[in-house]
Amino acid sequence: MSVQEYLDKHMLSRKIEDAVNAAVRAKTSDPVLFISNHMKKAVSSVITKVKARQILDSRGIPTVEVDLYTNKGMFRASVPSGTPIGMYEAVELRDGDKGTYLGNGVTRAVRNVNEKISEALIGMDPTLQSQIDQVMIDLDKTEKKGELGANAILAVSIAACKAGAAEKEVPLYKHIADLSGHSNLFLPVPAFTVISGGKHAGNTLAAQEIMILPIGATRFEEALQMGSETYHHLKAVITEKYGAHGCHVGEDGGLAPNISSIREGLDLVKEAIGRTGYNEKIKIAIDVAATDFCIGAKYDLDFKSPNKSGQNFKSGEDMIEMYKELCNDYPIVSIEDPFDKEDWEHIRNFCGLGICQVVGDDLLMSNPKRIDRAKRESTCNALLLKVNQVGTLTEAIEVVKLAKDAHWGVVTSHRCGETEDSFLADLSVGLATGQIKAGAPCRGERLAKYNQLIRIEEELGDQAVYAGEDWRQS
Ligand code: PEP
Ligand code: MG
Repeated sequence: MSVQEYLDKHMLSRKIEDAVNAAVRAKTSDPVLFISNHMKKAVSSVITKVKARQILDSRGIPTVEVDLYTNKGMFRASVPSGTPIGMYEAVELRDGDKGTYLGNGVTRAVRNVNEKISEALIGMDPTLQSQIDQVMIDLDKTEKKGELGANAILAVSIAACKAGAAEKEVPLYKHIADLSGHSNLFLPVPAFTVISGGKHAGNTLAAQEIMILPIGATRFEEALQMGSETYHHLKAVITEKYGAHGCHVGEDGGLAPNISSIREGLDLVKEAIGRTGYNEKIKIAIDVAATDFCIGAKYDLDFKSPNKSGQNFKSGEDMIEMYKELCNDYPIVSIEDPFDKEDWEHIRNFCGLGICQVVGDDLLMSNPKRIDRAKRESTCNALLLKVNQVGTLTEAIEVVKLAKDAHWGVVTSHRCGETEDSFLADLSVGLATGQIKAGAPCRGERLAKYNQLIRIEEELGDQAVYAGEDWRQS
């Protein structure tokens, strides 16, 4: 490594300049001592070690965990994983060796952290998030992070963010807010998954999730209570109707009775909300994940039924009519992926009706090019942010900016394969998204996020603002 490369890697030129500027400002009589003390502090605030390992996510599938060390301690992060939707997402690097974890091992990604990323980052200042992320992007050299793996890169990016917050001695959400230029912090409205279907559950419901949004709560803590109570009332409603076996849960903790229509699920949820007495304080959202049952130009709402009659194939127009009726009959405020990810025309037509928030998840894949197109064509009016589809925190911040510039809503989202890492909670507060989707108000990996929001609210005290009625923040 040349002297110049060494100076650049450790940002030494900038640190020396900072030290000299500080000495000038302080009008010190002993600039050498002053600058040397300043430099000692500056060079001690660096990444000293990065170590990755393979752990299991909530589905029992391998994922990457990273421990990043600075003089302030060890900072741990792990990455979630979902059902990959295609070519616009950053690459989740898996080993592919069918004899080990059915091909799902991530030892290559782990090795990339331990052998390549680690070497490149040691000596860097953890508060310089964008430089750290850029070093990894440059090291990877591919458009979709296929060389090192977005799972490797993101785990390090998040761990570095935690280390950066510790270095600045500020809470994680505050550091994220600084990085993204937000001064207003909001506790997000949670979208609790209460019924699971689609590819997340073994029942016959085509749509993936029915969620409840406690928009009328005054604090996040109250929202969590409303969510939990509704969930337990729903369990009782389902048990009465379908027996206890109707209360098995899907990937993200939603109850999964063997229902076959969205309306059947909505009736159950409506009944449960009625029993809580919260009524209009709780609104409903649906993630249809319609890409999973689009066949040709039709939508097969019976795609999971063993004895399907073929009667339930719907055209895009039929689906629009169905959504109009559902929004009329139930307090639905948000629908995610109402059509296939390439059915831009019907999503745009539905969104144009202005009935509810229309969220692009599979449609956008958190990809800037797809977001740009959707903005230009007014295809949807909200982004589902899945950070692992982007691959670094810095790029995720950029993606949120793109959405907010268009006055879209932003939902910070978990994946169906989650870990006990609670980073998403701080991210949603720091990015002031106003909405978070982290699954049911049950299961440890989901509650890791919701419980962290309770702690953040407590820490903010009088400064805590629950997004509530302003959940869209647009
Ligand atoms: C979703 O579709 O919104 C979701 C979280 O699921 P997955 O993680 O399977 O993409
Ligand atoms: Mg989705």
